[in-house]
Amino acid sequence: MRVGCPREIKNHEYRVGLTPGAVREYVAHGHELLIETGAGAGIGAGDDVYRAAGARIARTAEEVFAQADMIVKVKEPQPGEWVQLREGQILYTYLHLAPDPDQTAGLLASGVTAIAYETVTDERGGLPLLAPMSEVAGRLSIQAGATALQKANGGRGVLLGGVPGVPPGKVAVIGGGVVGLHAAKMAAGLGADVSIIDRSIPRLRQLDDLFNGRVHTRYASIEALEEECFSADIVVGAVLIPGAAAPKLVSREMLSGMKKGAVLVDVAIDQGGCFETSHATTHADPTYEVDGIIHYCVANMPGAVPVTSAHALNNATLHYGLQLADKGIKALLDEPHLRNGLNVHKGRVTNRAVAEALGYEM
Ligand code: NAD
Repeated sequence: MRVGCPREIKNHEYRVGLTPGAVREYVAHGHELLIETGAGAGIGAGDDVYRAAGARIARTAEEVFAQADMIVKVKEPQPGEWVQLREGQILYTYLHLAPDPDQTAGLLASGVTAIAYETVTDERGGLPLLAPMSEVAGRLSIQAGATALQKANGGRGVLLGGVPGVPPGKVAVIGGGVVGLHAAKMAAGLGADVSIIDRSIPRLRQLDDLFNGRVHTRYASIEALEEECFSADIVVGAVLIPGAAAPKLVSREMLSGMKKGAVLVDVAIDQGGCFETSHATTHADPTYEVDGIIHYCVANMPGAVPVTSAHALNNATLHYGLQLADKGIKALLDEPHLRNGLNVHKGRVTNRAVAEALGYEM
């Protein structure tokens, strides 16, 4: 199969659908790889590196869309890209169609077979192509929070690890899933005093086993939330109720009980945020202050570290990408978890949640 990878054109998107390492794997499976010139620039991989990996370099995105049987990307196609897709072609990328009727209509009109990373499942009910970005965001949340906590950045001026003779900073992580686990690891690694708050007792048991006493676990009662937030230097918001907007767990009123200059990092902002006072920000201007509390609410945190993010994403997408390249859409018949990724096929919506959200027949 001829597999194509255009350069990402969404604002501030520096990741790439296929790293040179992934290209080598597809080439080893006997596929022909077509990469748009400059596609890997954001991760420091020039055209020569892709050539050395076995790819042919296309001068334009149009060449890639016209010639490839399968397109591998990162972000959802933009309006100028929908119109270049066609029936019989496979699109393998993040789509997030439910809140995006225009893109859905564009994909339906094209006739393309579109597989969304975010709805591919695994045998434990997880979302394996979404998890690496949660790992990145979780780890980054502590770096971002620690930076915002510095006095010159508006924070209280606390060093998370403390020093001998001075106690460490306190970090409260609300939601102990993938983001929360990785935030807690980073905070504990820096020497902070860490609590994880979750409403799932089985999950708290797992976390307690994993950290072996190094972090505190708390059931998500109103009392626990207040105690942890009021004593924290950094609060990380990392809750998720799949398919729903994030619950507002920290109200504006609660801010008055917090320490002035404490930092809220709302990783769940892509689902609306779990602090009442959150609104989405960008890497160019990531923080703002409400009632003396610094808020960091960047909606695409992994975009800050495209080298790490692109490699983590490729590690996760490669397995099914190779199956699609090897077998075409027959791979969907063999792999129910990959089939769950199918969102649009030959002008029809094929994912129940997307169909229900946008009023399409399945
Ligand atoms: P996850 O499903 O692995 O974990 C969510 C956790 O929240 C679960 O353990 C669940 O029990 C807990 N939870 C749900 N409701 C709760 C409540 N009321 N109180 C306490 N705990 C509660 O999800 P995840 O992969 O860790 O993702 C968390 C959020 O981060 C999601 O909204 C995800 O979209 C977002 N995210 C954002 C970025 C970004 O760049 N901003 C990047 C990746 C992920």
